[in-house]
Amino acid sequence: MQSSILPTYKRSNLSFVKGKGSYLITKNGKKYLDFASGLAVNSLGHCNSELIKVLNNQSKKMWHISNAFQIPEQEELAKKLVKLTFADKVFFCNSGAESVEAAIKIARAYHQIKEKKNKFKIITIKGSFHGRTLATISASGQKKMIDGFKPLLDGFVQVEFGDHESIEKAVDNKTAAIMVEPILGEGGIKIIPNQCLEGLRKLCNKKKILLIFDEVQCGIGRTGKFFSYQWSKIEPDILATAKGMGGGFPIGACLVTDKVSKGMKFGSHGSTFGGNPLACSVAKRVIEIISEKKFLNDLNQKATFFVNKLEAIKNTYNHLIEEIRGRGFLLGIKIKINNSIFIEKLRNNGLLSVGANENIIRILPPLNVTNKDLKIALKIIEKTCIDINSKK
Ligand SMILES: *Cc1c(COP(=O)(O)O)cnc(C)c1O
Repeated sequence: MQSSILPTYKRSNLSFVKGKGSYLITKNGKKYLDFASGLAVNSLGHCNSELIKVLNNQSKKMWHISNAFQIPEQEELAKKLVKLTFADKVFFCNSGAESVEAAIKIARAYHQIKEKKNKFKIITIKGSFHGRTLATISASGQKKMIDGFKPLLDGFVQVEFGDHESIEKAVDNKTAAIMVEPILGEGGIKIIPNQCLEGLRKLCNKKKILLIFDEVQCGIGRTGKFFSYQWSKIEPDILATAKGMGGGFPIGACLVTDKVSKGMKFGSHGSTFGGNPLACSVAKRVIEIISEKKFLNDLNQKATFFVNKLEAIKNTYNHLIEEIRGRGFLLGIKIKINNSIFIEKLRNNGLLSVGANENIIRILPPLNVTNKDLKIALKIIEKTCIDINSKK
């Protein structure tokens, strides 16, 4: 059948009629364990009862109102984020790319207005992913995303992952900021080690430039801390987040310190839908749940158990599995056969996962996944390895 949808995604033939917790269910009643979580979005699983309650309540009061008025729900959510982080101010939007876009604008505005200097360049890491708008594809500079869409936005410089010297060399008198994902998600679940984040902070201080973290994927509890940077001793000046923030309801945010926010004034940025009462009410509950100490402790315990078992599977099937990567529930399995084939076989055995660069299979369980479901996933992963073995 001819689809009326622009063919920009590679889709599997599966479709679902219902989601419940860690499971998705097809029309025929077949259940799939969903460790794709809508790309790290369904942070509390499908149709979480607490979130349904908040969504229903707010839906009867008010859905949307423009930012020309006071929005108490937005104010409360911003206060929560400020309390949990380095930030003093928050801008709300609806997606990851928009939150990164806001970060880029805030960084440029800071230098132009606060220091009266035309610093606009932003240094990023090759293979990183910051979204699909023209600014954010310019930021990541990946060939497969920019081909056909030139000219790009000026002012982005990419350096190799892990190449400290190149980063330092890339800074010049036009540099405004360095922007990194503390853990590269699409790029293949590559962790920037704490000492490197600390090195970046020092470099930014020395050169009087800003440090931006893109935590669109690794933020909101995904790695076992509320934000991934909180595993380190340092803080960014600006942070972009989105994916897991609304538990499936679209919302994004850009967090910034008072000092660095100074370039942004009335009229300098905006978003029609950004921070509406419906999105903010849901996100507030998501954040309340995820930021709880016990929730994050449980998550880390479950993740440690899961990764240890994955390592054991890797050791048994080391001709199929090369490496287990990641932190918390932002996990990658580097596979020795084609990752798409392995993902399809996992799916046929009832487990949903997602690919990433470097032949990685991303395993992104809901953050409130049960130990029982983790064990089921491990069984499916092991069974898939056995299936592949027996076909040889
Ligand atoms: C997904 C992602 C984005 C883009 O988010 P969208 O909501 O798709 O615009 C940006 N940065 C990172 C690190 C991401 O993983």
